[in-house]
Amino acid sequence: GKGILADRHALVTGASSGIGLAVARGLAEAGAAVAVNYHSDGEAACQLVSEIRAGGGQAIALEGDVSREDEVRRLFEEARGAFGRLDLLVANAGIQKDAGIAEMTLAEWQAVLEVNLTGQFLCCREAIRLFREQKDQPRPARALGSIVCMSSVHEVIPWAGHANYAASKGGSKLLTQSLAQEVAPERIRVNAVAPGAIRTPINRESWETPEALQRLLRLIPYGRIGEPEDVARAVTWLCSDEADYVTGTTLFVDGGMTLYPGFAGNG
Ligand code: NAD
Repeated sequence: GKGILADRHALVTGASSGIGLAVARGLAEAGAAVAVNYHSDGEAACQLVSEIRAGGGQAIALEGDVSREDEVRRLFEEARGAFGRLDLLVANAGIQKDAGIAEMTLAEWQAVLEVNLTGQFLCCREAIRLFREQKDQPRPARALGSIVCMSSVHEVIPWAGHANYAASKGGSKLLTQSLAQEVAPERIRVNAVAPGAIRTPINRESWETPEALQRLLRLIPYGRIGEPEDVARAVTWLCSDEADYVTGTTLFVDGGMTLYPGFAGNG
């Protein structure tokens, strides 16, 4: 096959919408066979799989809740069963449940931590176990395996009213770095991508009216909202041999949102 991910086999979690969908499509366009994990929207996942197959690519849809140990184990078993091996994991699934701290319920706190952080732990653990089992097989890439965790600019920017989400992404940052340190000797790479404001269903209220979009753009030096494809290109590169010496880092894809835009022109 052609493309920088030719002969690779990938699993993308939360791939039935938004960033995950664009990532799955992007990996497939780069030549990877893609397992499209979904939680609730099987129809969207199947539609993406059909689209990839129609374009000559290889894809399957796999249901599974990333926050549940048994389901994650089954998910990876099914991906391996379908493809014979796995080279790439994109741990993308994530949710928001916003509330001021006094109003935040324990259920809201736990739901976000369980999907965003525990979900990444469970998926990374299963991927690393699988990569290790494959270590004596011929492989299509320089690395034995590669993982990208979907973080956020909120791995560094504090976010009032979203303490659960920011805590999950701060946790994701050090999960990524600690795993990267642990498995680098085995030639397994672990990185994060930190999107800024990307136009997806998760943050619809911040871009769907002109007033909201105007407010949002004050936070983005580059002057436009991000699109899921902006993130997908960065993930594709990180997954490829082009990024072979890159591990334990976070690639920000944020139009400059982390550049303290409030300071621009104030000097
Ligand atoms: P989205 O709501 O479109 O996508 C989230 C996906 O995760 C959905 O497909 C959903 O079904 C899936 N999901 C939710 N719970 C799940 C579970 N338990 N198991 C499996 N899948 C589950 O939103 P998005 O913006 O595409 O978000 C994708 C990732 O990007 C998230 O981790 C989010 O935190 C991160 N992110 C998004 C933005 C942004 O501006 N949109 C910015 C920074 C980070």
